[in-house]
Amino acid sequence: TQEQLIQQEKLASLGQLTAGIAHEIKNPLNFVNNFSELSVDFLDEISEEMPRIPDSPEKENILDLLENVKSNLVKIRHHGSRADGIVRSMLMHSRGGTGTMEPSDLNALIREYANLAFHGMRANPNPINVDIQLDLDETLPKIKLNSEDFSRVILNLLKNAFDAMRDKIEAQGSEYKAKVIIRTKDLGNRVLVEVEDNGPGVPDEIKDKLLMPFFTTKKGTEGTGLGLSITHDIIKSHEGSLEIQSEADTFTLFKILLPKTIS
Ligand code: ADP
Repeated sequence: TQEQLIQQEKLASLGQLTAGIAHEIKNPLNFVNNFSELSVDFLDEISEEMPRIPDSPEKENILDLLENVKSNLVKIRHHGSRADGIVRSMLMHSRGGTGTMEPSDLNALIREYANLAFHGMRANPNPINVDIQLDLDETLPKIKLNSEDFSRVILNLLKNAFDAMRDKIEAQGSEYKAKVIIRTKDLGNRVLVEVEDNGPGVPDEIKDKLLMPFFTTKKGTEGTGLGLSITHDIIKSHEGSLEIQSEADTFTLFKILLPKTIS
């Protein structure tokens, strides 16, 4: 409907706006972080000089004030680096849009990025044991893809699955065996790509919100809520569609349909 179209356009431009804002914030934030770091170093130097100044009530006072300044600077540095993490992940999730559409081997792309996502997850301070299964249709012809963009779809969906399954492992312990399946299937004039995990599932009351920019259930600085909205944008730019199916505590399935040839 007209209303859905308007909503989609709003979301797409919000994604671009986000990337733009993240870029603008990055530079001044670097100043804040670099200068607070430098100032902490200066304060350390001052502290080293203090023993050479004779003791006096004034010196005590100055030492107290220096202590306060240092504790404030340490807070600035800590929260500055948190903000830096948020900006980085906003940029990472936002669309680069530099690649081009060309006939591509979707299965090869999936193999490459599933492998990358798996190694990225294992390098995480809190890695999980997950069984990644590929069920790829080897008869699939090359289809027109922006490989650079589409690789982010694979990475985003896998990262979300890993995060969700990590929560389930923490809740249920080693009884539960985490598993992700990536499927491709030739449907004639379209190609089906599925990413399915056996994690906690998506509660019905939030299912409609998942694709909205900034919607996240992840705590702290972990989530930006941009992954799925950008994933959706990329799929739309391939003239494809995305559907989410889920059952509580059983599975979550992201179903992507792509046209075989696009203009
Ligand atoms: P983020 O990962 O930063 O939270 P996303 O847009 O990628 O942002 O995801 C939005 C929300 O969708 C997540 O916070 C999570 O609640 C939910 N979600 C996404 N993928 C899954 C999944 N595979 N299983 C369960 N919940 C999911």
